[in-house]
Amino acid sequence: KAKEAGKGGYAVFDHPLNDTFAERMNIEKQLYTAMEQEEFELVYQPQVDLILNKVTGLEALLRWKSPELGYVSPLKFIKVAEDSHLIIPLGTWVLRSACAFLKLLHEQGFGHLTMSVNISMLQLLQTDFNELVLHTLESFGLQPDCLELEITETVLVQSYDHVIAKLNALRARNIKIALDDFGTGYSSLSYLTHLPISTLKIDKSFMDSIPTGTNQATLVEQIIRIGKRMNMSVIAEGVERQEQLAYLLEQGCDKIQGYFFSRPLAAKDMEQWLACWKEASIDLIPVLDKES
Ligand code: C2E
Ligand code: MG
Ligand code: MG
Ligand code: MG
Repeated sequence: KAKEAGKGGYAVFDHPLNDTFAERMNIEKQLYTAMEQEEFELVYQPQVDLILNKVTGLEALLRWKSPELGYVSPLKFIKVAEDSHLIIPLGTWVLRSACAFLKLLHEQGFGHLTMSVNISMLQLLQTDFNELVLHTLESFGLQPDCLELEITETVLVQSYDHVIAKLNALRARNIKIALDDFGTGYSSLSYLTHLPISTLKIDKSFMDSIPTGTNQATLVEQIIRIGKRMNMSVIAEGVERQEQLAYLLEQGCDKIQGYFFSRPLAAKDMEQWLACWKEASIDLIPVLDKES
């Protein structure tokens, strides 16, 4: 059977694990043409400030609808795009598109909004990454402090000093840095003291335990406390229910992102969503203590 598997002689299709391999190969193949065929789209999810009681920012999230593979989750294709280095041109497209939309929103009277963009390690490691970011902002006439780059701790495992230097340079230019998915993976509290972090983003896996008072909930409380003490803005992602919101508000969490307010929306739908809330001027945060 190995002989049938091609010139390399590897029986790649024999093993159940290799379904994944074949799938990844197929994703990679389709990814190469996806950009020029305009199969990508950005969707946007609001970030709500609990004190100001309004939307202060959006996170841009990448979507891919392949004619061949159908809708593919970013959890699958981002990894493949990283391994094949396609994430470099793709990430540049994401940054430009997100900034273009932010500019449009600013012109429509939502001048206070910020844009959060997810950045892969590989992008950050490009020598000209900082220039790309600054140039992109400049080309749209956007202030640096309306852009937030979301990084995960995996970016720090490699080239630690080098990455810190680049992040410091970006922060010195007033660009915000968020530490995404905080509390999972290789999280180390010492990162917080060495990195120019403006925002701590509590991973959505913590939300399951809220507000039942388990150890996980205790961790959330302490993450919020540490972030605040270190002058960071703390945002919780994956907030779906009112009890979670109430709990986070009580614990002093600054911002919330999640299905409770809105799912990620296409640009046109997000424009409408924002306009709707603005006109209605309804409180985003419901009165939580009504009964008591
Ligand atoms: P992330 O940056 O942590 O984004 C949050 C994820 O949680 C998004 O999944 C979002 O749709 C989802 N989410 C938001 N609110 C809720 C909620 O209330 N409940 C639940 N269950 N989920 C919620 P998505 O869009 O599938 O993205 C997955 C990951 O893919 C992102 O996680 C990010 O790491 C990566 N990603 C997405 N877009 C990009 C991009 O443009 N560049 C890079 N490098 N990575 C991206
Ligand atoms: Mg993110
Ligand atoms: Mg996240
Ligand atoms: Mg996440």
